[in-house]
Amino acid sequence: MSYDLHCHSSCSDGELSPDELLSMAQLAGVSALSITDHDTVDAYKTPSMCADNAAIRLIPGVEFSTQWRGIGIHILGLNIDPGAAAIEAGVQFQKQARENRANIIAQKLERLGVMTPYEGALSYAGEAPIGRPHFAKYLVDTGFCKDLRQAFRKYLGAGKVGDVKQEWASMCQVISWIRGGSGVAVLAHPHHYKMTRTKLLKLIDEFVRLGGQGIEVLSGQQKENVATYLSDIAERSGLVASMGSDFHRPGQHGARLGMHKALPANCRPVWELF
Ligand code: AMP
Ligand code: MN
Ligand code: MN
Ligand code: MN
Repeated sequence: MSYDLHCHSSCSDGELSPDELLSMAQLAGVSALSITDHDTVDAYKTPSMCADNAAIRLIPGVEFSTQWRGIGIHILGLNIDPGAAAIEAGVQFQKQARENRANIIAQKLERLGVMTPYEGALSYAGEAPIGRPHFAKYLVDTGFCKDLRQAFRKYLGAGKVGDVKQEWASMCQVISWIRGGSGVAVLAHPHHYKMTRTKLLKLIDEFVRLGGQGIEVLSGQQKENVATYLSDIAERSGLVASMGSDFHRPGQHGARLGMHKALPANCRPVWELF
């Protein structure tokens, strides 16, 4: 089996529709795929997603946003029941949180001289939950920034004016939605948070205490030593290990669909819990 348990469709900030994503995953040799859109399970409401697909096993998932000690954190819910009341409640809460957050981000950008940022971002979001990538596109298309990278580096990335986190549900709440929806809670891309080992272990201790069960040991095309570092932490903390590309679009820097790699030997794979 070849697993890719983290990617995004056009139901959040990915480029491909859920159907296109499935076809592409099949071509990439993936045998089990989880589409984990940001704070939504709309991908699983597409009729073809409900049909049995012999070539590829679809594992319902979601990527919830939360924060811990002022740092934006992402938690995956894997093998969830997308129709469960707890997941529905989570998605509704986060939808409102995104709305409130978008208004706060817009006010901050207006103060910097950006015209109608809320309307601008919304026009890109369409039906998808509004987020920073939509603001980034607007900043580029209105000439405020030269490219998306610069938009995140100057205005929207971690610690910048548009990095608004206080609206998100707590980690405790997010984990309880996932567990309530029969899923496994997995800390996404731990190396993205740029924490010291001591701080990451504190986060993981709290995550485990609240019912978290796994961490992503392989995320995107990270370096070999990161996987070793994270698999040791997983083993030490009694966590299962997951792997996912975090694919958003063809040509994306650092992410191709499919993992083409195995978990380190000391890992207990998350799919043992499915
Ligand atoms: P949000 O869910 O609204 O907080 O937006 C976070 C998303 O923005 C991430 O999932 C990425 O897809 C995207 N993102 C974050 N940082 C960057 C960056 N530096 N350049 C481009 N996209 C980014
Ligand atoms: Mn994203
Ligand atoms: Mn993420
Ligand atoms: Mn992601």
